Amino acid sequence: MSRRLDVVVVGGGVIGLACARALLRAGREVTLLEARTIGAGASWGNCGLITPSHALPLTRPGTPRRMLAGLLAADAPLHVKPRFDLAFLSWGLRFLARCSHSGMRRAMIGRGALLERSRRLYGEWVGAGLDCEWREGGLLEVFATEKARDRSHTVAELLREHGIESRPLEAPALAEFEPALRSGLAGGLFFPRDAELRPDRLLEALAREVRALGGCIEEGAAVTALGPGRIETPQGSREAESVVLATGAWAPILARKARLELPIQPGKGYSITTKAPADGPHIPLLLAEANMAVTPWASGLRLGGTMEFSGYDPDLNERRIQALRRGALRYLRTSSGEDPCEWCGWRPMTPDELPIIDRVSSGLVLAVGHGMMGVSMAPATAEIVAALVTGEAPPVDPAPYALTRF
Ligand SMILES: Cc1cc2nc3c(=O)[nH]c(=O)nc-3n(C[C@H](O)[C@H](O)[C@H](O)COP(=O)(O)OP(=O)(O)OC[C@H]3O[C@@H](n4cnc5c(N)ncnc54)[C@H](O)[C@@H]3O)c2cc1C
Repeated sequence: MSRRLDVVVVGGGVIGLACARALLRAGREVTLLEARTIGAGASWGNCGLITPSHALPLTRPGTPRRMLAGLLAADAPLHVKPRFDLAFLSWGLRFLARCSHSGMRRAMIGRGALLERSRRLYGEWVGAGLDCEWREGGLLEVFATEKARDRSHTVAELLREHGIESRPLEAPALAEFEPALRSGLAGGLFFPRDAELRPDRLLEALAREVRALGGCIEEGAAVTALGPGRIETPQGSREAESVVLATGAWAPILARKARLELPIQPGKGYSITTKAPADGPHIPLLLAEANMAVTPWASGLRLGGTMEFSGYDPDLNERRIQALRRGALRYLRTSSGEDPCEWCGWRPMTPDELPIIDRVSSGLVLAVGHGMMGVSMAPATAEIVAALVTGEAPPVDPAPYALTRF
């Protein structure tokens, strides 16, 4: 009979690792179980942008109309694979229902709180020695068309109302700001408070800290079922004071075993990582019409983006990789460097663009559904989870992230 564990965190992505670290610092004993290897999910090959500027959710008026335009094209930034899938249908209807002014504002407040708090915490973590190629140089969104540039004025105004500053850049100023951009672009919007890091380095650094704080990380340890204070693995069942579910896009599969329905769909994204090209960009870019990001680090360059709803299909679709390259070339003089590494991962998408961070019973806490913002929201999520486990007052009000909202 194995000893009753204190806290078990299930899932070794950025959310699980950040939660494990926060719980250890709160004085708990932590065992983290990861089915494959640390970073095997979405947390490894993402773009590593830390974006308080992204408080505005996708769920806003006008999104359904814009999405319809490219929905079925195989290489459009958003692609839905035609199929009969009741769970996805129900998710889609919930998403559409939230594309209203009230849905947008609700999500914006909840997202803003996590993003802003996390941005501050990253600064502190890095100040205390977290090594992840952190850089605080801001983020530039670039528009190829006047239509997209003009639409961004409304977004900038909305963000300003929520205390998020941005600075418009006219077309002639773009080349001076970022010489890697092509001429002929329509303009840009600069977000000075955004930052960047290298996600694989972040995961390595967090795993190191978890171990240094006395935490135990078991890789190749798939959890097959769980419930309040209980997990099952192929080796048998184990008991714990608290279980934290942090399995990203896989969360609905395990949650069902605990009789919980989580409205989360895998939203597949792709990235290409190369060596840093000599004439590549020096600040992170969002390429608006292509719906993709470009993140430069001293150690490399990453192009990433696209959102594909095709269920739990793990295949790397070469057409979408090529679409990323083509997308980048519309804005950049050079699209990438040498030694390309192609990757795809599932974002854990909720229909309202807010994560689920909730204590659903005395022995079970959920930390899932961070969608497109898991890296940007991890530190504040971890603080809330630690508070939910220890019974302390959370520094951010957890009400917007409760499962009962669905
Ligand atoms: C192309 C792309 C670009 C992105 N860019 C950004 C960005 O710039 N900024 C940002 O903030 N976010 C970005 N994201 C989103 C971000 O990557 C995710 O929100 C985040 O990684 C989710 O982290 P997670 O820990 O919840 O899930 P994951 O990283 O997917 O981790 C879940 C882990 O659980 C494990 N697991 C699953 N089932 C079990 C089980 N039964 N037992 C044990 N372990 C299990 C998996 O193996 C996996 O390692 C991007 C995503 C993509 C795809």
